Amino acid sequence: MLKRIHKLDKLIANKIAAGEVVDRPVSVVKELVENAIDANASKIIVEIKEGGKTYIRITDDGIGIYESDVEIAFERHATSKIKDADDLNSILSLGFRGEALASIASVSQVELITKTEDSKTGTYLEIHGGEIIERKEIGCPKGTTFVIKNLFYNMPARYQFMKSNAVETGYISDLISKFALAYSNISFRFINNGTIVFTTSGSSSVINNIVSIYGKEIAKNMMYVSNRVKDISIEAYISKPTIARGNKKQQVFFVNGRYVKNKIISDAIEEAYKTLVKVNRFPICFIYLNIPPNRLDVNIHPTKTEIRFDDELYIKDFVVNTLRSKLLEENLIPSIGFEK
Ligand code: ADP
Ligand code: MG
Repeated sequence: MLKRIHKLDKLIANKIAAGEVVDRPVSVVKELVENAIDANASKIIVEIKEGGKTYIRITDDGIGIYESDVEIAFERHATSKIKDADDLNSILSLGFRGEALASIASVSQVELITKTEDSKTGTYLEIHGGEIIERKEIGCPKGTTFVIKNLFYNMPARYQFMKSNAVETGYISDLISKFALAYSNISFRFINNGTIVFTTSGSSSVINNIVSIYGKEIAKNMMYVSNRVKDISIEAYISKPTIARGNKKQQVFFVNGRYVKNKIISDAIEEAYKTLVKVNRFPICFIYLNIPPNRLDVNIHPTKTEIRFDDELYIKDFVVNTLRSKLLEENLIPSIGFEK
């Protein structure tokens, strides 16, 4: 029988698929912080060295992983977050694809230390390039720590595409700031090369976190607005038009707690501020939308930062109207015409 097609070995299949989820250190941080949030952590510490290329450590005080689950957690499509196809319509967790750990472990050297509330001892597992090197019992507090060493050590092509340590560190710092803004109930600490870059308390308001991350000057010029129509709600911190920026980096959107990139929301901001800011100037906006999960598709791309709304026009109008009403209320929209 002639035959030339064979199924790829699991290690190589994972390595190929990893390319979609993990393309630089910040993607590792994103996936592991999302896992910590899904694990109900109240405190998350992210420590990196050399832009995250050689060392990323993420510690949380969440629910931990059962001793008998630590190995399957690293299998592709293994998850505790969904069970069947129907669950895809009601996703409230940040993860659901069961891909991150398998991907990360296939392209780095991972150490996992984890303990659940009800187990006496914790588990230590070390995996290099997808292969288990060591497993043992270990004493540790409740929660989970992942250490990711030497990202892409076995993928020279990918390794080359990482940018300088400073640039990679910048991406990570930005991302953690965004998480801290989205989850003001969680304490985040970011440590770079042994120095604390910032800490949020986990018990302060969003606006206080804006102060600790972006500084007093920006926070002073932010306005708060919220709105709800039926089952869709929004909270937004938006800047006065006078402090618009040269790029959209400080326009940050969260939909159901998920950090997303989204053109509908970004267009809505542009429309709301039309005539108030000059061309190519962009107001600072932190926007939190909550929408029933069945009206949203989050399963567009492995990194889950793209989403699609079922009714884009409706969402856009809802955002435009909410922001516009605040700008009007603050008399920031000049009235046109001659009337006094
Ligand atoms: P997903 O998040 O899509 O489920 P992952 O590969 O990121 O897939 O993680 C696999 C599983 O490992 C998760 O479903 C979860 O049960 C467990 N897990 C991962 N990280 C943590 C953590 N920090 N705390 C508790 N459980 C975790
Ligand atoms: Mg995950």
